[in-house]
Amino acid sequence: MKNRVILRSYLIFLVLAVVLSFRSVLFVVLLTSSAPALAQSLASQSLFYPFVLLLLLVLLLASWVVLLKKRLAEQKPLPDKSDVRDLSFLSLHDETSGLPNKLYLQQQFELWCRSHPNQKASLLLLKIQNFERVNQALGHQNANLVLVQIAQRINTAVQQDQELLILEPQGKQSGKVAHLGGVDFVLWVDASTRQHAAEQIARRLEHNVPEPLLIHGCAVEYQLQSGIAHYPLHGELLSDLIERAHLAMQNRQITQSSTVVFHPDLISYNNDKLGLMAELRSAISQQQLKLHIQPQIALSSRQVVAGEVLVRWHHPRRGLLGPAEFLELAEQMGVIYPLTQWVLEKAIMTLAELAQQEILCKIAVNISSKDLLQDELVDSLELLLKRHKVQASQLVLELKESALVAEPEKAMRMLKHLAQLGVELALDDFGTGFSSLAYLRELPISQVKVDCSFIFDLHRSDTHTAITGAIIDMAKNMNFMVVAEGIEQAEVEQKLVAMGCARGQGFLYAKPFALDAFPAWVKQWSYSKATY
Ligand code: C2E
Ligand code: MG
Ligand code: MG
Repeated sequence: MKNRVILRSYLIFLVLAVVLSFRSVLFVVLLTSSAPALAQSLASQSLFYPFVLLLLLVLLLASWVVLLKKRLAEQKPLPDKSDVRDLSFLSLHDETSGLPNKLYLQQQFELWCRSHPNQKASLLLLKIQNFERVNQALGHQNANLVLVQIAQRINTAVQQDQELLILEPQGKQSGKVAHLGGVDFVLWVDASTRQHAAEQIARRLEHNVPEPLLIHGCAVEYQLQSGIAHYPLHGELLSDLIERAHLAMQNRQITQSSTVVFHPDLISYNNDKLGLMAELRSAISQQQLKLHIQPQIALSSRQVVAGEVLVRWHHPRRGLLGPAEFLELAEQMGVIYPLTQWVLEKAIMTLAELAQQEILCKIAVNISSKDLLQDELVDSLELLLKRHKVQASQLVLELKESALVAEPEKAMRMLKHLAQLGVELALDDFGTGFSSLAYLRELPISQVKVDCSFIFDLHRSDTHTAITGAIIDMAKNMNFMVVAEGIEQAEVEQKLVAMGCARGQGFLYAKPFALDAFPAWVKQWSYSKATY
């Protein structure tokens, strides 16, 4: 556009120059030729030149005005001072909480390190647990409101802690918390006077901050989890310290350990566990998981009445792994549900086979606490039973007391749905938890399995005899059937029979063996061992 205007101005110049030079040439020609009078008349038009010049100037000016207007319209406005301030605020603060962000923390961390040479400090990482559930329940926008309130609560709760670095002096409160984004927050704790200051602050925050929050009349519950890395012991870079505090926190979640502080062993330890869990995901499809079964015997009739399915992992490098070596971790890492689904399908297929061979026998499957929180468990179970034409009442689901304590209401709802479906429910490892009688009465269970630890030495221990006797009496009063696990000795069996225990399971009858062999084993037992 600019070039076109300039070009137009030059064209006008050119035309005028041509006109002017034509007139001068004509004047000279006429003067020197035979017509001087004519030349004289041409020269007498004295207004001609000033008029042409004026026109030229006006045209030039108009071109420049047009050009200038165009340029102004094309140019973006220059930011004023307040815009610049806004930009720097945005780049240094989290957009949801308004707290200093990671970049801000990095700047303050570098300043602190330069001004405090050889001084010790701790990075305290705080994470809100299970926030995805808040997101799902309330939607993203409301969940953000919750996040802002939790962030403010944390910041308010640390106002009196003198060891904390003030990242940003604010109005009434100092900004002592950095928000790394998501559900992660960081505090920088000066450890020069109190070595364990960060641990104390962490425990206090974990305990005091998670009071339920009210959002639109709903009470939102949340938990805080922390991890700590010491500077310079565990790293001299902010990114290393954050990563290590994360590892400490993860390890605490997995192992339920009480320590919140990073330890160098955690690097290889955690990698090992994470590797194992990554492999577990593909272990099913690669047929590395094997199912065993252990029979349950009716103590009065000595008939096989059921079998409990138990999983094993034939790991290509680590060898045979028992459930204790991978199941708890699988639960914590959220990979248990596909495994349970697989076990359920195999168990139901075996039930179909037993029915085909006219063997009346139930099969029990262990269900983890995480499975109970899967809404689709009931539907998928119903589908499996239908697909294999198996009666729901032939399936027993065993669950531990601990499975019910994490989210009792949700677990109870799930148990009721499962009972409505017609499957039998058993409380596993009974006696090791803290279930009250009143609570047990509310559960839609029909069996109680007394834990191995009471049964092993029942013939030698008076205490265990007293406990087992009390459990059997109580269960009978509540119409629960009692199964004793871990019967290894004939003496123990006799004692249990005398106490009125209905069923037994243990090495005395059989160690767990391959699930495929179960129908044949049951037949064999009823022919030969029933008379034992
Ligand atoms: P559990 O459900 O209490 O299973 C009984 C455990 O006691 C089994 O150990 C069994 O081998 C053992 N046992 C039974 N009788 C005797 C005995 O006479 N002497 C001794 N020393 N032990 C006996 P296992 O197979 O190692 O299973 C351990 C736990 O792993 C199970 O305890 C169960 O909670 C869990 N588990 C096993 N398979 C699965 C599964 O597929 N899913 C889930 N969620 N958990 C499973
Ligand atoms: Mg069990
Ligand atoms: Mg058990």
